[in-house]
This record gives sequence, structure tokens and C-alpha cells, in this order.
Amino acid sequence: MCAGAGALGGAIGGAGANLCPSIPDARARPMAEPLRPAGAAPPCATALEEDEDGEPRSKHFSSTRNPCKLCTPLGACLVFRGVEGCIPFLHGSQGCSTYIRRYLISHFREPIDIASSNFHEESAIFGGKSNFQQGIRNVLRQYQPQLVGVATTCLAETIGENLPQLLHDLRREPDMAGAPPVVHVSTASYRGTHIDGFHAAVRAIVEQLAQGGAPAPSVNLFPGMVSAADLRHLKEIMEDFGLGCALLPDYSETMDGVTWQEYEKLQEGGTPLVDIAAMGRGRASIEFGRVLASTPTAGEALAAKFQIQRHLLGLPIGMRETDAFFALLATLADAPAPRKYTLERGRLLDALIDGHKYIFEKRAVVYGEEDMVIGLTAFLCEVGITPVLCASGGRSRRFERALRDAAPELPVETLVREGFDFAEIAEVAPGLRPDFLLGSSKGYGLARKLGVPLVRVGFPIHDRLGGQRILHVGYRGAQELYDRIVNALLDVKQDTSSVGYSYL
Ligand code: SF4
Repeated sequence: MCAGAGALGGAIGGAGANLCPSIPDARARPMAEPLRPAGAAPPCATALEEDEDGEPRSKHFSSTRNPCKLCTPLGACLVFRGVEGCIPFLHGSQGCSTYIRRYLISHFREPIDIASSNFHEESAIFGGKSNFQQGIRNVLRQYQPQLVGVATTCLAETIGENLPQLLHDLRREPDMAGAPPVVHVSTASYRGTHIDGFHAAVRAIVEQLAQGGAPAPSVNLFPGMVSAADLRHLKEIMEDFGLGCALLPDYSETMDGVTWQEYEKLQEGGTPLVDIAAMGRGRASIEFGRVLASTPTAGEALAAKFQIQRHLLGLPIGMRETDAFFALLATLADAPAPRKYTLERGRLLDALIDGHKYIFEKRAVVYGEEDMVIGLTAFLCEVGITPVLCASGGRSRRFERALRDAAPELPVETLVREGFDFAEIAEVAPGLRPDFLLGSSKGYGLARKLGVPLVRVGFPIHDRLGGQRILHVGYRGAQELYDRIVNALLDVKQDTSSVGYSYL
């Protein structure tokens, strides 16, 4: 159990609040255990009661769950590693950084250093100022970073640490003259998800480092939490349109890099600080995310402070959302899409026709972070698959409306649930008879129990190699996703056939 979890277990566990994902789920039921008494009616949406927020809740509610979301500072740490020369620094318990490092390393298969102010009992009672100041001095000495990105943990937030004041006091110390910048973001995990931490960190970086001045020709692109392969593809698209791009964050190299001769404490790559400074002078901002719960976003902050025009789009997953992205780029570039993308779109359409007979009227359970689920659901609907449950651990309160805007074909009977966890998904999924699951590796236990394939997307993917290289965005990403879904269903068809046809 992480130190943060240990220190907070009594405080937040008793309240039944949003629990630390790193706490071993002692009271949670194993997946194989029956979720209802023998002979009871099959689970369905109407079997769920509502919680104090009016959200559907299982009758089998327990305060310790297997959440369909991750720890808030995890998202912030990933953003900080997407900035060139930046070291993430957690103000709080050491166990929080251990948990986050473990989660990120298991997905990206790359090392990541996350510093910590390493609270102990005394810090939890009297505050962590001396730990914070000592910790910052240590990382400046050991890493020589260009930037320190500080995020708070649950413990620091619970005891009310005033991070701006701590930083103000630190900067007044004589030995801090000429020190690199330190950005800070508040990331209490009991009031958000990893995606909230991600967007909050992007916003904090832009608010604290972007500068105005003579207009710059580049377009600011805030992609949200996508894969390293997605980031590379987005940069390729922008370049092919002839648009200079300031992409924030960019962990396409830092979290999916090459081999080294010697260990690199801070891997090469990431958004250069000079590009971040120039964001206040960019010609426009593009933000992906139909559900951006935290306001203002980075794009909104730039619009408010520097009057940079902001374009808000859904994650470009699938044909329609990618069409919208390409249409915007064509407008900004004042040029049509390069031919290679016209061909990619055409090949995707052709593949949809080829594969339609295998996937028509198949049923899917989709889960994960809200914007990813929205993009995936829109794609499933446009290819003729019926999403029967769309679930997320996020609680933006915009999820269903945004989902139905992006996927107007979504049947009214489809269950759309925010604030859901894996116990609740496991409770309703059998009655919905899905043909496959679409989401992170955290759904593997349920897929195994249901005897259906899991098509892995998003984050985290801990049981396969290459999670960071899964392409979701663009026509190319839709093509890869479509092929994987069709082939997963063909696997089932083949494996369950008494004949075992090798020609399908
Ligand atoms: S910050 Fe994350 S790891 Fe730390 S106690 Fe909170 S939820 Fe757990």
C-alpha cells in the first residue's frame, strides 16, 4: 500500500469518497464471485439505485472499488514528462509517486523519474514546507532540469498545503536566484480523475509560461491524453498541412524512446519551453475534448489572456470526427488535405465495406476516460456496431449529452454511465450480451468472465506490449482499430466453430 493511501485511508475511506486506486481492494469482490444471489433476476439498468449525486449505483455498493479512472496527479506527471527537460515533482507522500511510476512504466515500458517531497507523519501534521524546499533543491542539483512541474497529492491537498505560497517563499531564498521555472498544479485525486489532472497541468503550464508579443505562425494543439503513436501522427498531419505546430504535451519521444548507451535521467524530447512561451502569440488553438470538465482549459486561458482563437473538437477517432479535424486544418492552411490522407480515407471506407458483414449488429461495451469513450462510440456507431454500455469513471456531467452529439445513431436504450466503476460494469454487462469489450487492460477480468474478446485501447495497457504505440486518431488510426475489431470477432468465429474454417 502506498504511503499516501495509508495516510488517507481512514480519512477518505470512511467517507466513501473517491478512493486511491493504489489501495489493494480488500473488500472488492473477485470477478468470478457471483454478483447477485443465485436465482435472482438478471442485472439491468433498472436494478441500479441512485447515489447521493443522483447517479446510478449498485445495490452491492462498497466504499472500496475497482475504479474506471486513475489517480489525478498521474495525468499531471504524464504532461510534465511531455515538456522538454521537465521533471515531475509530487508534493506529498512518496508512495504516490511510486504508484504513478509503476503505472506509467507498465504501460509505456520506459523509465520515468518522479520526485517527491516525501511527507512523513510530522509533515502531515505541521505541513511540508521544509520537505518541499529541500526536495526542489535536490532535484535542481541532481537533474539540472529546464522546468520543475509540481503536482499535489491527496495528502497535501487534505491538509491544505498552499503551494503558491510555498513557491513564493522558495523563490525568495538567495540560492534560488537564476533557478529554472517551477510550475504548479492542484491535483487532489478525491475530486477528479487522471484526465482532470492532465488537463489541469496543461492549463497550468500555459497560464504560467505562455507569453504575448509579435504574432507567431504556429497553431497550438492540445491533444488530450492520447498515445505516443497518436502524438507522432498528429505532428505528421500538421506538418503535411504546412502548419507549424506547438503540441502540448508531447511525450512521443520521452515515453516511447530509443535505447541509450547510458541512463538518461531526463529523456530527450518533449515540447520545447520556447514553443510554450510562443503559445501566447499563436495564430489559433485546437483542443480535443467534447468533455472538458475543468475550466478554463488551456485553450480558454490563451483566448482570455491573449485573444488566441480557440477551436474545440472531439478526439479525431473514426471517420466523422477526423473529417471535422481535417476540415479545420484545411481552413487554417487554406489548402485541401494532402493526397495521402485522401487515399487513407478512401482505404478506410473500402475496408468498412469489406468488413461490414463481420461486424454488423455486433454489440460492444465501451469504457474508459470520457472523451476516449465518446470518440470510440462515435466510430462504432458509424461502422454499424451497437454500443450497449458506454461507461466512464469520470463525472463531468456532460458525458451523455456529448456522447449523443458525437454519435447521433446511438440507440436510446444504450446505457450511458458516468462515475461508474468496474464492479458496476461487471454487474450490468452480462445482461447486455456484448460481443466484445473495448477499453483498457483493466477490463480483461470481465472479458474473461464473459468469454468475449477485449480489444485494447487507451490507457492503461498492462498486459500487452506496445500500448503506447496503439494508434487511435486519424483515418489511419480508425483503419487500425477497425481491423483489430473485425479480426477479434473473426477469432471468436473461428475458435468456436466446430469446423474451424480457415477461409472467412
Ligand atoms: S495522490 Fe493518487 S496515489 Fe496518492 S493517495 Fe491520492 S489517489 Fe492515492
